Amino acid sequence: MEIPALKICTKCLVPQSLDAFGTDNNTRDGKATRCILCKRQESVRYRTQNPEKVRAATAKWTRENPEKRRTYEQTHKTEKQARGKANYLQNKALMNAQSAAYYLTNRAHIRQKQAEWEASHRQERNASLRRRYAQNIEKYHEKGRAHYWQNREKMLAQNALYFATHPDAGQAKRERRRAAKAQTSLNDLTTAQWQEIKDAYGHRCVYCHRKMQRLTQDHITPLSKGGAHTKTNVVPACQPCNSKKRDKAPLVPVQPLLFTIAPSKPHTQRKKS
Ligand SMILES: [Zn+2]
Ligand SMILES: [Zn+2]
Repeated sequence: MEIPALKICTKCLVPQSLDAFGTDNNTRDGKATRCILCKRQESVRYRTQNPEKVRAATAKWTRENPEKRRTYEQTHKTEKQARGKANYLQNKALMNAQSAAYYLTNRAHIRQKQAEWEASHRQERNASLRRRYAQNIEKYHEKGRAHYWQNREKMLAQNALYFATHPDAGQAKRERRRAAKAQTSLNDLTTAQWQEIKDAYGHRCVYCHRKMQRLTQDHITPLSKGGAHTKTNVVPACQPCNSKKRDKAPLVPVQPLLFTIAPSKPHTQRKKS
């Protein structure tokens, strides 16, 4: 029987088999002078004693090896998430208090950043909201119903007041509903845009040029012909002209507004009070 070669660790001075040592090409036997356990302890001590140095070194490595870093992130994603989660669960109260305090002192800044992000990532954000909504549709319906029944009186009163003081909003809502019924490809005309369209045309019917308070939304390509309920397909028309046109082509050639104002907002976004 062959006796395995033993090597003494220069740190803990314990004789151990060669497997207990890592590789080191600078030594005669190709093995490190300290055992793996000692090295590990040393590394942990160094890391806790020199957090800035470690952070700087990691940052430097990341800068120099972006590809490797990305691969590392991808292969260790679940571990990282698990670590974050465990850390949170352990320090939940403290972390919640910290983030609440941070939010309170930086509220304006946070909200502004959030708004900026949302404005520049509108499609992504909408897609993710839609996905989340679709995945939890029952939950959202349930929540909505509960909220409605709990606040019914208040909500009905608020709605009535809002539509009484904003006749345009009522009109816009009815038009949107009509467009939804016609299953248009695009249904994003907002009340504000409708107001801007009317302002731009001087509150006149595009066909007979009469100036009037009550203008209807005329779809250049009719909804029934697949036209969209969106700012580039809507012009103001008086009721008689709109009725005369019905679902035919415009009575006279009409140039829709080439908009540079007010980008479309999804109409489901309500202003928070
Ligand atoms: Zn050792
Ligand atoms: Zn008219």
